[in-house]
Amino acid sequence: MAKDVLCEVNNCTYWGDGNQCHADAIYVVSRKGDKASTSEETDCKTFEPGI
Ligand code: SF4
Repeated sequence: MAKDVLCEVNNCTYWGDGNQCHADAIYVVSRKGDKASTSEETDCKTFEPGI
């Protein structure tokens, strides 16, 4: 289980100082079905656009 999630997407509702993700849990999906070959093929589905 991931304890500290760091993220650069600073317009997400769950983003905080120090690139900390403050969501209780995150859900990561693949852009290519249920497998990925590189990290670029993955996305955080928990993302919520902030203000
Ligand atoms: S929910 Fe996803 S996109 Fe939003 S801060 Fe956390 S890891 Fe980043």
